[in-house]
Amino acid sequence: MSIERETLYIVATPIGNLGDITQRALDVLRSVDRIAAEDTRHTGRLLTHFGIATPQISLHEHNEAERSGLLIERLRAGEAIALVSDAGTPLISDPGYHLVRAVRDAGLRVSPIPGPSALIAALSASGLPTDRFAFEGFLPAKTSARRARLRSLAEDGRTLVFYESTHRILDSLADLGDELGGEREAVVARELTKTFETFEQGTLAEIRARLASAPEHCRGEFVVLVAGAPPRPDDALDAEALRVLRLLLDELPVKRAARLAAEVLGLPRNRLYEAALALGRES
Ligand code: SAM
Repeated sequence: MSIERETLYIVATPIGNLGDITQRALDVLRSVDRIAAEDTRHTGRLLTHFGIATPQISLHEHNEAERSGLLIERLRAGEAIALVSDAGTPLISDPGYHLVRAVRDAGLRVSPIPGPSALIAALSASGLPTDRFAFEGFLPAKTSARRARLRSLAEDGRTLVFYESTHRILDSLADLGDELGGEREAVVARELTKTFETFEQGTLAEIRARLASAPEHCRGEFVVLVAGAPPRPDDALDAEALRVLRLLLDELPVKRAARLAAEVLGLPRNRLYEAALALGRES
């Protein structure tokens, strides 16, 4: 494979099963001048496995800003550089954002070499809706911040995807149940592509109870996927629209109130009619 000079390649690596490395990833890792790696010892094992001897330079969250300058200099000098993280796609809950931004701002090329990511692997096999989803990465470590984040997601209709680790999986599932409702459908994907790959499916409350009673299932790496909030019938009617509708309903029959409200608000008449009927049922 011919590689481009003055280019930063963003190279995805396996998330557990080395058989998932792509041919292009191997070609690029073999051909670039150096590999910027989150943990050079970890990546060293991957490179040794595939017989690749390309020199490495470390790039992690603590030295990324300073290293970016150095790597841009090398790119400008004509080098091709690959960025890898410990597993999966760099920048996805992994270092690299500052480097990619800086390289782009410097007018240099950034090219992805796509491959595994736990997020997409889990979502694609979860059985939850995939047409719209929100990747939330890791939840905050502190309980109060975690709960606040979850509260802000409680009404989100998209499938929610979180990364989680062994030591927080039970706490996070408990908080998810408390803030989103224990009856919400969910899937917990564990150890994807590895020997003990498992998918737990059920409500948040059921999955938490199952994991709590089997500590061996709490070990490893997790992707937690939660079904989005069900749509509410009068979802799109904001507080102001409801206020207008209520005022008109105080004075007029339902049909006329809905028609006038639709005109004033510029909204479809049948939506206001249904909302008016719902308000009637509430009172
Ligand atoms: N960049 C990686 C990616 O593209 O998926 C993610 C890196 S992030 C630091 C590590 C987290 O990803 C783990 O804590 C876990 O939530 C998730 N993860 C990574 N590998 C996994 C696997 N084999 N099975 C389940 N989750 C995994």
